[in-house]
Amino acid sequence: MVDNYIYEVLGKFEMIPKLARTLTSVLPVDKSRTGSCNQCGECCKLPFKCSFLKIAEDGSSSCSAYNFRPLNCRKFPRTQSQLEPVIDVCGFSFNDSPGAVK
Ligand code: SF4
Repeated sequence: MVDNYIYEVLGKFEMIPKLARTLTSVLPVDKSRTGSCNQCGECCKLPFKCSFLKIAEDGSSSCSAYNFRPLNCRKFPRTQSQLEPVIDVCGFSFNDSPGAVK
């Protein structure tokens, strides 16, 4: 029972980055961003798999609500800090980040 309570509390903390992305999604995308989306779908799993994320048998990802997706999805990754959790797979990078290709 205590484990369930702790898991529930920690689960809410995992939502903080997503809440922050949502609240700041009206802000502009960092101008140093380069690259493009390779449709890996990893940002659609932060922190839990989005119910609109569809994964085909060949492993490719797509959004079943693409035309209606919210700003935080449209602009991801808006900043370097948003990129960090998916930096190894995302097709975007930021020019002023360490190791960025210029
Ligand atoms: S993590 Fe990056 S490359 Fe992958 S789906 Fe999201 S924006 Fe596209």
